[in-house]
Amino acid sequence: MNVLVINAGSSSLKYQLINMENEDVIAKGLAERIGIEDSMLTHQPGNGEKVEIMAEFKDHTDAIKMVIDALINPEYGVISDMSEIGAVGHRVVHGGEKFSESAVINEEVMQAIEANVELAPLHNPANIMGIKACKKVMPGTPMVAVFDTAFHQSMPEKAFLYAVPYSDYEDYGVRRYGFHGTSHKFVSRRAAKLMDASYQDLKIITCHLGNGSSIAAVKNGKSVDTSMGFTPLEGLPMGTRCGNVDPAIITYLAEKKNITAAEVINYLNKESGVLGISGISSDFRDLEKAKDEGNKRAKLALDVFSYDVKKYIGAYAAAMSGVDCIVFTAGIGENSPLVRSYACAGLEFLGIKLDEAKNEQHIGKEGEISTSDSKVKVFVIPTNEELMIARETLELVS
Ligand code: ADP
Repeated sequence: MNVLVINAGSSSLKYQLINMENEDVIAKGLAERIGIEDSMLTHQPGNGEKVEIMAEFKDHTDAIKMVIDALINPEYGVISDMSEIGAVGHRVVHGGEKFSESAVINEEVMQAIEANVELAPLHNPANIMGIKACKKVMPGTPMVAVFDTAFHQSMPEKAFLYAVPYSDYEDYGVRRYGFHGTSHKFVSRRAAKLMDASYQDLKIITCHLGNGSSIAAVKNGKSVDTSMGFTPLEGLPMGTRCGNVDPAIITYLAEKKNITAAEVINYLNKESGVLGISGISSDFRDLEKAKDEGNKRAKLALDVFSYDVKKYIGAYAAAMSGVDCIVFTAGIGENSPLVRSYACAGLEFLGIKLDEAKNEQHIGKEGEISTSDSKVKVFVIPTNEELMIARETLELVS
């Protein structure tokens, strides 16, 4: 069966068509500037050349129609008609407490996703537009929602509760939800395979380090703690997000800068993180280059980030009473030997020993980067959220 994976943003929509017999990507692409002028679709058939198609998408339904047209186009298409799409898997950011697993989309599930808009006002509305558009264009095709939060619903209460009055949890849903669940699940399952062990027997720390970064403690196949919280602002410092700060800073800065609390939150989301510290860039490639050229603040940003990764590794080893393996994934985790080296330095007392030569060799490719006598295995595993969404979709519709 072919599964179409959809990741809908407010003005863009990414897609992949995956043949589930061999898990090959038959085609992928991106519709951009939906509802804005100069919208366009970039479509890439399996091994073929990218095609750029200029077309006006006034909404997500137009964009999905164009995606289907591209998929069945006689010249650069990959299927002969829509019936060759067996199911659609949608990435949905927030599943709240309702979804601890992926779900076949029906009226009740749609209502629950809509009820979570309050918790993810920037993301869920776009995901809903993507689902509605697909339902309109492909009314008979089964659809599945795969939630970023679902994998973390196994966290115990002691890990997800904040120390605010319990009634705020009961009345307003104030708690840690965690994000990047699809990625943490994918790489932890893959790590178990690389260790030739069952994921049910392992304690794994997964470090998803990208533009947004989060770390998870995965014990016996279940997430027991994670660094992102009520929103994706908590935890590690990120490209432009501050991560953990004392909440008193919010009103303090609001007063000093004469801006509202909402404006401070925006500032902590968009102008902080490693960009804020370095004053240079949110991109780790730029920071590493600047550090090599002697820029102190770029070095400082890399130090702050890696130090926090290290602290989470220590904390989650304690939370799970041990750790069997550590996984680095996503843009920085997969591609930055420097961050991996900084983050693991000095953790020999936990049984973590990095093989620096192997670490340098593994840029963007899977493999073990710990020494042969390291008690804790350390892996680089490229994440593949689309494939995980397709797998979950196939499982639910078969
Ligand atoms: P997202 O999916 O959250 O947008 P990614 O997982 O693609 O982000 O990660 C993007 C980040 O990965 C970039 O901002 C950049 O900092 C980092 N990155 C990519 N390649 C490298 C590299 N070769 N060295 C260091 N950092 C890299």
